[in-house]
Amino acid sequence: MSRLKDRTCNLSILHVFKIVLIAVTIGSVNCAWAEDWAKLRENMVKKQMKARDITDAEVLRVMGEVPRHLFVPKHAQRYSYSDRPLPIGEGQTISQPYIVALMSQLLDVKRGMKVLEIGTGSGYQAAVLSALGAQTYSVEIIPKLSVQAEGRLKKLGYAAEVKNADGYYGWKEYAPFDRIIITAAANHIPRPLLDQIKPGGKLILPLGNTQYYQTLTSVHIKEYGKTDVSYYSYVSFVPMTGEMQK
Ligand code: SAH
Repeated sequence: MSRLKDRTCNLSILHVFKIVLIAVTIGSVNCAWAEDWAKLRENMVKKQMKARDITDAEVLRVMGEVPRHLFVPKHAQRYSYSDRPLPIGEGQTISQPYIVALMSQLLDVKRGMKVLEIGTGSGYQAAVLSALGAQTYSVEIIPKLSVQAEGRLKKLGYAAEVKNADGYYGWKEYAPFDRIIITAAANHIPRPLLDQIKPGGKLILPLGNTQYYQTLTSVHIKEYGKTDVSYYSYVSFVPMTGEMQK
């Protein structure tokens, strides 16, 4: 009888030990995952940005902080810090991390500036702009993406206003903007957007053939309506739809 009692006692100690072991293992797996995302981000900044031509300290800081894996569908999460664009549903894509960094660097955002993005998509670029300290406004033409991005940005604590509309017409209520960034391919510069930039402001967009490649283009709006246009690398974005296609 006393033996049986001892055994029971031993068994339950073993059980407690097993439970503790399982709990510790689960805990460390969770920690490992959390650390992995940060590590992946750190590597992304080092190999895809610093090793190329991203030198803006604020852009590098923000790219190392914004949790890109929370902006892509679950099945694509493990590729979220890879050097490539990813599908985000509705036939749309989130740009390659390097392109987001490059466009943010070219945009030259300073704290407190009012920035308009056309093509919210997942909300990732909007989160980057908000983390750079910009008052961020973003327009998305696909209702489902716009609702999702708005909820995601709110949940993650990024201050950004999102609207479902054709971004060709900008966002008059909040104009003029210091900066405008178009993250869909355009074959011309929408006039309403030019009219919504402050003198001294800037517009960055992928300009060219909307079905194939475009040139990353920066338009600097000078005083008296004059503009300075600079061209950078070739890129390939999903087409801007709506009025742009008419
Ligand atoms: N910046 C996004 C990715 C952009 S993908 C991100 O960080 O995830 C291009 C997005 O532009 C798509 O979501 C597409 O629906 C949207 N788009 C295309 N044409 C548009 C238009 N005329 N106005 C607003 N958004 C548009």
